[in-house]
Amino acid sequence: MGTRTKYVDSDILIIGGGFGGCGAAYESRYWGRDLKIVVVEKANIERSGAVAQGLSAINCYMGMQWGENQPEDFVRYARGDLMGLVREDLVYDIARHVDSTVHKFEEWGLPILKNPETGRYLREGKWQIMIHGESYKPIVAEAARKAASEIYNRIMVTHLLMDKVRPNRVAGAVGFNVRNGDFYVFRAKAVIVGAGGGSHIYRPRSVGEGMGRTWYAPWSTASAYGLLIPTGAKMTQMENKIVLTRFKDGYGPVGAWFLLLKAHATNAAGEFYEKDRYPEIKARVGHYVDIQPMPTCLRNHAMLEEIKAGKGPIYMHTQKVLDTREKEELGWEDFLDMTIGQAVVWAAQNIDPKETPSELITSEPYIMGSHATCSGAWASGPEDCAPAEYQWGYNRMTTVEGLFGAGDTIGGSAHKFSAGSFTEGRLAAKAAVRYVMHHKAESPEVDDEYIKRLQEVVFKPLETYRVGRNEIVAGTVAPSYINPLQGLQRLEKIMDEYVGGYSMFYVTSEPLLNRGLELLQMLTEDFEHIGAEDLHQLQRAWELQHRILTAESVTRHTLFRQETRWPGYYYRGDYPKLDDSEWHCFTGSQYDTKSGAWNMSKLPVHRIVEGFELLRT
Ligand SMILES: Cc1cc2nc3c(=O)[nH]c(=O)nc-3n(C[C@H](O)[C@H](O)[C@H](O)COP(=O)(O)OP(=O)(O)OC[C@H]3O[C@@H](n4cnc5c(N)ncnc54)[C@H](O)[C@@H]3O)c2cc1C
Repeated sequence: MGTRTKYVDSDILIIGGGFGGCGAAYESRYWGRDLKIVVVEKANIERSGAVAQGLSAINCYMGMQWGENQPEDFVRYARGDLMGLVREDLVYDIARHVDSTVHKFEEWGLPILKNPETGRYLREGKWQIMIHGESYKPIVAEAARKAASEIYNRIMVTHLLMDKVRPNRVAGAVGFNVRNGDFYVFRAKAVIVGAGGGSHIYRPRSVGEGMGRTWYAPWSTASAYGLLIPTGAKMTQMENKIVLTRFKDGYGPVGAWFLLLKAHATNAAGEFYEKDRYPEIKARVGHYVDIQPMPTCLRNHAMLEEIKAGKGPIYMHTQKVLDTREKEELGWEDFLDMTIGQAVVWAAQNIDPKETPSELITSEPYIMGSHATCSGAWASGPEDCAPAEYQWGYNRMTTVEGLFGAGDTIGGSAHKFSAGSFTEGRLAAKAAVRYVMHHKAESPEVDDEYIKRLQEVVFKPLETYRVGRNEIVAGTVAPSYINPLQGLQRLEKIMDEYVGGYSMFYVTSEPLLNRGLELLQMLTEDFEHIGAEDLHQLQRAWELQHRILTAESVTRHTLFRQETRWPGYYYRGDYPKLDDSEWHCFTGSQYDTKSGAWNMSKLPVHRIVEGFELLRT
């Protein structure tokens, strides 16, 4: 295993065939008719990524054709929901293009529900539209398959490759085939990373036999960050972890229930608690509490305070809104299209949503750049509306030359969701094609010695296991290595207890974070001795490595931001209030692989809506 090496050269290499990656493949072909476009994916793009199970709503659609919303409205919404901190240029750029993406999805066969009275798409909420989305991913993947020159499924990408002579220039990536162990070297003129966000960085509420049941997909292994960080790409807002209010035990989303079916949540006594918490929240975050709709994190906060006061369980009163057969079907279908596990929990726990309310709870934290938070890479913005400090060349290019990103990969712009991530893939691809055209003469140069060293590193866990397995003392316990699951559970425990997981009610502080960093350092050292008994475990090992790197980045950013900007997502116990005078800024970090140093910085927040003259394209 690991002896055959395959080289694949391309103009544009897309890593991850999820929503960002599929958008990138589609658009690369549109602008780069003659280019070689390669997609590499660890699963199979037909059913990979966060949308593998399907979705029941598209959460980002303006409806400009009917005058429903304008991109500027969306920027104001995203800014408010993120407590003032978004890259408005990036958010605006997605908003102005996202409708055309959704229209393409419909053309390709995605059934979008219509409002029988108006003939428009059926709105779930101001920004969301309802879909019959069980086959959302295969429909979108088909477009990518037709656009790409080659698709390599079942290749776990472990590292990005840097150019031999230009130190800040990406040159490709390496990985291995998870079925036959072939080692792959991808050389490319431009690379677009769409490798998705991170679950299982924090200990999930469901452990033991239920540990695969998380809200964000368990196969979202933070590779978007784990691949970028070692290149020295600047990262931003990594402390901005997301905690979601979801149906208990099944993690079923609440959007359709709150927004479309108009169900209400109360405490166990039937009281609406949010308004009672207003004075306390105002004292913490000031005027941000008055933003309409109330920012997602603050709604979490109100609920957490209620639970801490012993007033739980918190109930979603499904039984009060399912008064017609049509609504009942909608309620079930919401989960059968998207989070089947929730329908199974109802069936298993004898819950008939027509008769009984269902418990809500907050999830463990996830690291994402596409949902209601915006962790990810610091990226160059669109040239017509990004302020000078946000522009260094090509749209969605990171601070590494030729390295682009989309979806969860790109930081600072929340609320992209599925359609916005695909749109961002399109935007990144358009810019990447231009980059390739402008740098035609410069083919990537990759050092053979460096590739050989990487190959040894990638397959080392198999060797560690082979040598150490004779010493196994019991079950999976061995003195000379840890296995990927043991490493994962240790990571989850550290993050949960020291970096604000659910068991700590999301609270952390400087001493806790510093101790967390020490323990993460020990875990990093032990990763050198990880053992993998087969290729499946080898994949788990590298997924763990991406999660550990991401976890360290999250911890360092959380330590750096000395305030509590998003109560309900996490709390700095030592800085319990929001502090605009010091922290109305993005946080930035750059990791230096050689020295192991993390360079932290404050990055400016510019307003472009209500402040800049916008040039429309
Ligand atoms: C339960 C749930 C509900 C959601 N609800 C909605 C909703 O109602 N509406 C909505 O619009 N959005 C929703 N979303 C959000 C949406 O799914 C994401 O915003 C979107 O998928 C992000 O796109 P992405 O390309 O960044 O990541 P993904 O779509 O997850 O794609 C990442 C891809 O990279 C691949 N990959 C990862 N690591 C590697 C590696 N090392 N090597 C090779 N390949 C790799 C993965 O297999 C995957 O194919 C939901 C997500 C979940 C999980």
